[in-house]
Amino acid sequence: MTVKLDDYFDRETFNRMQAVAEQHETPFLVVDLKTIERAYDELVEGFPFARVYYAVKANPANEVLGLLKDKGANFDIASIYELEKVMALGVKPEQISFGNTIKKSRHIRTFYEKGVRLYATDSEADLRNIAKAAPGSKVYVRILTEGSTTADWPLSRKFGCQTDMAMDLLVLARELGLEPHGVSFHVGSQQRDIGAWDAAIAKVKVIFERLKEEDGISLKMINMGGGFPANYLTKTNTMQTYAEEITRFLQEDFGDDLPEIILEPGRSLIANAGILFSEVVLVSRKSHTALERWVFTDVGKFSGLVETMDESIKFPIWTDKKGELEEVVLAGPTCDSADIMYESYKYGLPLNLAIGDRLCWLSTGAYTTSYSSIEFNGFPPLEAFYV
Ligand SMILES: *Cc1c(COP(=O)(O)O)cnc(C)c1O
Repeated sequence: MTVKLDDYFDRETFNRMQAVAEQHETPFLVVDLKTIERAYDELVEGFPFARVYYAVKANPANEVLGLLKDKGANFDIASIYELEKVMALGVKPEQISFGNTIKKSRHIRTFYEKGVRLYATDSEADLRNIAKAAPGSKVYVRILTEGSTTADWPLSRKFGCQTDMAMDLLVLARELGLEPHGVSFHVGSQQRDIGAWDAAIAKVKVIFERLKEEDGISLKMINMGGGFPANYLTKTNTMQTYAEEITRFLQEDFGDDLPEIILEPGRSLIANAGILFSEVVLVSRKSHTALERWVFTDVGKFSGLVETMDESIKFPIWTDKKGELEEVVLAGPTCDSADIMYESYKYGLPLNLAIGDRLCWLSTGAYTTSYSSIEFNGFPPLEAFYV
């Protein structure tokens, strides 16, 4: 398939990014901050009643964090290291949620000492740790969700607990002197089925009602996680459609008097803003009669393209070379045979593509720099420029 640049970037934006790209040797990421700003505004317009907690892991660059802080965002933080980073930029503890359900007791204490009072959990042991290390704090319990087959990068199984356990944990939270604040879920990243939110919200409603009736606990908050889409090869609905549909699901279950709603977008805010510029290192065939070319680029699984694992995320790849397309296997530059990005899914690249030509990996602003390894085979971490 041919990737049309115009489907992903307007020319003015691309030219601005290209101007930066021309001055550097590949590989590197260029991120257009205006695109992030637009995505943020669009999300807030779609969900005017929600509080946005940016999932820092998607792209922890200071330029991104500073921009989102200035726009009034809050932050979903997963470690003391991310905590240090956002607080160094002047983010207040009231703007922070410790969203990782897997955490050391002494790290919970660090968050507490810095003033953070909002914690996610999904297990009794973690809840007891929170009660000891962060007494009196607000907790929300993460529930398991379905939808792993329609999310391109599922976040299920490892996180969340069954509804019954979630209710028991919220009751226990009260006994332990914590504030049972709400329920969270994540329907899976790059979730293409909007119905996944419908099912999750219905589960949350049951928890809200049962806790109120049976235990006199009034929950106040629903954290709907991330999962909103970026533009990759596989088409999705627009953000506006997501917002309209999800708002309708909320109103069907909770009426007009909605609880506090939290969103934790990562990918949908950042991915579309990035272009990973790379260069073809080698083009070869494995036999004299092989129909397939192997195209090796100077980026790979270990320099930012981790989400090509199982060919989960299909990044649009653009080249200014024109001509007849031929199927290729795309692989990275390291001495590891896992470093193959696409083999089953057939990317077509021009037959005249040659060593030294540049390839642009579009929609790569999120989950690339933060996933890049430090020095596998001596290759440095993925560099990035924010424009
Ligand atoms: C990764 C993560 C997110 C961000 O998800 P996206 O699909 O990138 O928007 C949000 N919340 C939690 C708890 C996460 O782990």
